Amino acid sequence: MFGRISTMKSTGNYSDEIKRLKKAIEETDAIVIGAGAGLSTSAGFVYNGERFEKHFSEFGKKYGFKDMYSGGFYPYETPEEMWAYWSKFIFVNRYMDAPKPVYEHLLSLVKDKEYFVITTNVDHCFQKAGFDKKRLFYTQGDYGLFQCSEPCSDETYENEEMVRNMVERQKDMKIPKDLIPKCPKCGKPLTMNLRSDEKFVEDAGWHEAAARYHDFLNGHDGKILYLELGVGYNTPGIIKYPFWQMTADNPDATYACVNFGEAVCPDDIREQAVCIDGDIGMVIDELRK
Ligand SMILES: [Zn+2]
Repeated sequence: MFGRISTMKSTGNYSDEIKRLKKAIEETDAIVIGAGAGLSTSAGFVYNGERFEKHFSEFGKKYGFKDMYSGGFYPYETPEEMWAYWSKFIFVNRYMDAPKPVYEHLLSLVKDKEYFVITTNVDHCFQKAGFDKKRLFYTQGDYGLFQCSEPCSDETYENEEMVRNMVERQKDMKIPKDLIPKCPKCGKPLTMNLRSDEKFVEDAGWHEAAARYHDFLNGHDGKILYLELGVGYNTPGIIKYPFWQMTADNPDATYACVNFGEAVCPDDIREQAVCIDGDIGMVIDELRK
């Protein structure tokens, strides 16, 4: 395991670190992007404040919550009420575009490179921005997919049409009973394909993406850049710790951490690391200059 974790804020100034990262991107053979919630926050996907008020003020008044996450945990009494909320949540956070073009700008930075993306985000922003589907590994699911709540199989189901219907036909924060999504195989309720408990379904697409990710890692052992964007400490074992370990194992690797408020790395890989404390969208704009 790693020893002391240090913040690097004090060691390099912002513009020097940007220059170092720019150079690393230019000189590297391959880039592995590891993205967490902070990247979508930077793209304007915030779950409270104005965005909440705009789409969910009605729900907030009725149930007493003030942000979209809390709304997701609310114990709705009926499926009609629950799906009124969730269909709207999925519509707003999966099918509407991100308010700011941060993902598009990130793509312009890496599109001519060998790249691969691993992300814990479930909002589909990479694909919407035009990232190659074959270079993406969504580890925690996708708001755009349903699965059986049992689950009776490892199938997932595209939900766009179901979600749009539920949004359009809901009244007084309830959907009509006939729109409650049911598993086509066993008739039990469908649920979101999100890794929130042990019932999460890893479908064929998930396994193919996982295999492609590991192939990519195995196929690039020279100059490689692990570019971590907005990854927090909810599930550090998926992106952050493996990135640290792979950097420690490869003297030609660079680890970059761009994070608003938490740009840190272990002392063991300090020489190979670039840590930038700042808004990811602004950092990407600097890198594109
Ligand atoms: Zn089923």
